Amino acid sequence: MTATTPVLSAVDVTKHFTVRSAVGARSVVRAVEGASLDLHRGRVVALVGESGSGKTTLARVLAGFYAPTSGEVALEGVPVRQRRGRVERGYHKDVQIVFQDPFGSLNPLHRVRHNLERPLRLHHGVRGRAELDRRVRELLERVALTPAEQYADKFPHELSGGQRQRVVIARALAVEPKVLLGDEPVSMLDVSIRLEMLNLLDRLRAEDGLALLYITHDIAGARYLCDEVVVMYAGEMVEGGPKEQVIADPLHPYTRLLVDSSPDPGRGARDRERLFDADADGLGEPPSLIDPPSGCRFHPRCPFAMDVCRTQAPPRTDLADGRWTRCWLHHPTQETE
Ligand code: SF4
Repeated sequence: MTATTPVLSAVDVTKHFTVRSAVGARSVVRAVEGASLDLHRGRVVALVGESGSGKTTLARVLAGFYAPTSGEVALEGVPVRQRRGRVERGYHKDVQIVFQDPFGSLNPLHRVRHNLERPLRLHHGVRGRAELDRRVRELLERVALTPAEQYADKFPHELSGGQRQRVVIARALAVEPKVLLGDEPVSMLDVSIRLEMLNLLDRLRAEDGLALLYITHDIAGARYLCDEVVVMYAGEMVEGGPKEQVIADPLHPYTRLLVDSSPDPGRGARDRERLFDADADGLGEPPSLIDPPSGCRFHPRCPFAMDVCRTQAPPRTDLADGRWTRCWLHHPTQETE
């Protein structure tokens, strides 16, 4: 591994699921197609898209919960092998995931102390009451649940949503991971404490050099926390690059829709209405992943769709400053015509 080797990579990852209808007909859900991204130490990548875009499925592939249908996941440059759909336990020590619902993530029958002690015992072999108490106290202090003694013996239902999510993050940190995958980690929390949670994640990334994947439908939150943005639509990555450029000047019409639909008192709704006035909320309906549109999957919703968009999927076009997109508008063959 070199200094520039990503801690975790998805390389051309595809994930399909076979489902059966009530009458027994089989269909294939094309949840993720050809997704590639790199996570680097101390950096945050935001994976942005609406529900059904495939971002959670990709997170679960990266977390080792699903085997990719094709493509591979690499940890520090080494392809991750799975047996019968499972990765080795050591993988979960390096790659941890925090889910949207903190209540569902914690064992409700056990106190905070137990939820934190379990990974310490399992992954680090910590034994002895005094040492376990010390490590639990340290973890709670790191996520600003102080005084720690006040929280260690509470049950999850005795905590607020924000406090529970801090415990979930503390449990992930107990493993001392290299990568933290946050799947909408603040979206179920009260708006007033989301910023605190983003600041906490930012501090942990800086202190521990964690590589962080921040999955969200909220591109404004992504702007606050991340270094790089990758946008997914209907199972495909459609745009990526440094956050300032992507958010200030989106290239792909879908990214522009997301930016224009995000809360921004200074901007109002002018661009959204001009671009997508058929949709009351600006977002419309994402397509079926069982029978996605031909060509560019965004073409039924795109006000700039051309004939080529309906028949041919746009290839990735790399542009200046580390930006890239999959849109015929920015492909050299169209720009020179
Ligand atoms: Fe719109 Fe065509 Fe670009 Fe797809 S490829 S986003 S349909 S212009």
